[in-house]
Amino acid sequence: MEQIQRHTVELQSSYKDLEMFAYISSHDMQEPLRMISNYMQLLRRKYEVKLDKDAMDYIDFAIKGASNLQSLIKDLLSYSTINKKEINLVSVDMDELLNDVLSSLQLLMEDRNAKVFINEPLKPLMADKNALTQLMQNLIQNGMKYNISEVPTVRISCTEDSKFITYCIQDNGIGIEKEYATQIFEPFKRLHNKHNFPGTGLGLSICGKIVDRLNGTIWVDSEPGVGSSFYFSIPKVQPEKQQA
Ligand code: ADP
Repeated sequence: MEQIQRHTVELQSSYKDLEMFAYISSHDMQEPLRMISNYMQLLRRKYEVKLDKDAMDYIDFAIKGASNLQSLIKDLLSYSTINKKEINLVSVDMDELLNDVLSSLQLLMEDRNAKVFINEPLKPLMADKNALTQLMQNLIQNGMKYNISEVPTVRISCTEDSKFITYCIQDNGIGIEKEYATQIFEPFKRLHNKHNFPGTGLGLSICGKIVDRLNGTIWVDSEPGVGSSFYFSIPKVQPEKQQA
């Protein structure tokens, strides 16, 4: 028993070290990467008339690579700071929150010809508003992204029982095989290649951590070729020590 406890403490400590490493390295990489990206764009603007097509293509590849790396670093920072950030539990108005999330996804929705339907009424959640915004944004965005329907459609609904409020984000996308239903919540577990579906592979693991911090659970029900329903359940009453 004592040995198990010691191992648990050691594991927790090395996990914290890893999180700290991910935080510091991603934080420190931001500035040099911004510099590389800015100078490549300057080079493109200033020498456009002098360089041939190959040279311009190489510059574009470098700009694209820097932009992908910026997204990865942003997600790594987000992933490694979730447990560090102070959690501010309030009763979150979900109509208002979804309004903000959908405004921020407006461009993607227009680009993909996507539709989002909300099944009223939505119950307020006892949660941290910023974390919940990120959670909803990742899940709705995935519903439109991993989707090859003519009209990608996402439906949001909510149910409750005596202890939990459960939200469902359902899409008519490509779906997920049953055997991957838990793996997709692990960092960098991607089922599709980056060329067809760009992403960092951290979106769902960030969702998992957020729900964990809110003492909830997250899971998916899916049928390949038909669509997926992502669910998350949050307790109606949060433990005392986390209350704002
Ligand atoms: P990313 O941040 O790269 O989008 P995620 O962590 O959000 O990755 O998702 C992990 C993997 O789970 C994705 O690469 C994709 O294969 C699969 N996935 C996530 N959401 C959906 C969805 N709504 N429909 C089908 N597959 C999905």
